[in-house]
Amino acid sequence: MFADTPSQARAWADLDSDYVDRSARRFPEMDGREKTPPTLRELVSDHGWFAFCRCCERSVFADCPDAVWQSDDEVFCSEACVAQLAKYLGRGRA
Ligand SMILES: [Zn+2]
Repeated sequence: MFADTPSQARAWADLDSDYVDRSARRFPEMDGREKTPPTLRELVSDHGWFAFCRCCERSVFADCPDAVWQSDDEVFCSEACVAQLAKYLGRGRA
């Protein structure tokens, strides 16, 4: 999320925070990226972020050896989780 000012960033971080603990942090390397926001994959691989596995919600870091990226915004912690979610979705459609 790109904010124009620090106070706007803090205000956005406070929204809905009754249920979710959020905070605002400035990433200077993202300045100028408003028009081409980084993908989740880029944030994880190049900027030290982590993502949640789409299946089990385990944290996936850049150095996770078994991570499986299905797109630049979808990651699984392992092939087992890819298979498990595929099996679950397949059952839903049957
Ligand atoms: Zn997983």
